[in-house]
Amino acid sequence: MIGLTVNGILLAIVLIIIVVLIIIFVTGKREQLPIEKEFFKLGTINHLRVYGKKAQKAVDKAAERVAEIEDKMSVFKEFSEVSRINKNAGGDFQRVSSDTYFIMKKSFEYSNLSKGAFDPTIRPIVALWGIGTKQTRVPSDNEIKDKLKLVNYRNIILDEDKNAVKLKDKNQHLDVGAIAKGYAADEVRRIFQEHKIKSAMIDLGGNIFAYGRKLNGEPWNIGIQNPLSSRGAFVGMISVVNKSIVTSGNYERYFTDHGKRYHHIMDPRTGYPCENGIISCTVISDNSIDGDALTTCGYVMGLKEGYKLIESIEGVDAIFVTEDKKVYVTSGIKENFKLLDKEFSIGQDEMF
Ligand code: AMP
Ligand code: MG
Repeated sequence: MIGLTVNGILLAIVLIIIVVLIIIFVTGKREQLPIEKEFFKLGTINHLRVYGKKAQKAVDKAAERVAEIEDKMSVFKEFSEVSRINKNAGGDFQRVSSDTYFIMKKSFEYSNLSKGAFDPTIRPIVALWGIGTKQTRVPSDNEIKDKLKLVNYRNIILDEDKNAVKLKDKNQHLDVGAIAKGYAADEVRRIFQEHKIKSAMIDLGGNIFAYGRKLNGEPWNIGIQNPLSSRGAFVGMISVVNKSIVTSGNYERYFTDHGKRYHHIMDPRTGYPCENGIISCTVISDNSIDGDALTTCGYVMGLKEGYKLIESIEGVDAIFVTEDKKVYVTSGIKENFKLLDKEFSIGQDEMF
């Protein structure tokens, strides 16, 4: 009788151990399988790949948040906050959410820093070219001259106490397309942190945030797109942990007319797509909002000025690719950058 009881207890213990091991195995496996989500927002395809116990909840919340940011920022949505500021240009201050206010404040800072190379009042020029619509066309010089009068970031007036924004002149229009994806990526990262996500790849239309490390503890390898080739062909590669990697490129959004390519990054001084020899500018930074704004700054400022600007900012690096197939890499990631395409070579930056 006693023997049976001892055997019974032993059997029960063994069974409990087996059940516990199965639970550990199953939940462990679940953490190792990513939850993935793809959705179209902010005018682009977004892809999230997430590892962690709360991955499903985290991706759902993140997608909702990106949708919310689009609802507030889109110039293609009549009732977005940015559209409301645009409609009331030359009139009263418009109270906005802290999201929109923060984006406008950051936009103004980067406009100042780049001396207007980055200018969110570029919208009348972007609209004239039809960028982001099916009605793209090359406007006349006169049309461009006319609309260019409306482009002036100094006319963005901010009231911090009231979270309010206004544009000084009638017909001025904002476009936050050069910075909003960066802000959205930072918000996705914040949601992942709240859900204790271990590892994730956030890709908002090529605006990448490499969250944490790969599941095996190694850094993420991020390919830098070859702007002269089809998607997925890389000029080089960098290894990063917990970094934002954003690229502005002439291949991202463009149309061709009489064999000439017209892309979406505008020079606010001329009203034409930037043509300064750069074909892509990638920025590596801790926050994606800074990276996104700085890629546009770097692209528009040109190689020499753009390179100097990035070198002057602590903790930020950049990779510039030029049409003569040179790659210029700032000092902080020179060791890290691996050139993969032998048609390209490392540019000499000593003269900068
Ligand atoms: P990105 O790909 O981040 O360089 O942003 C390009 C988008 O920002 C364009 O599609 C326009 O909506 C807008 N944009 C174009 N040129 C400028 C500029 N010089 N400053 C600010 N925004 C711009
Ligand atoms: Mg940008």
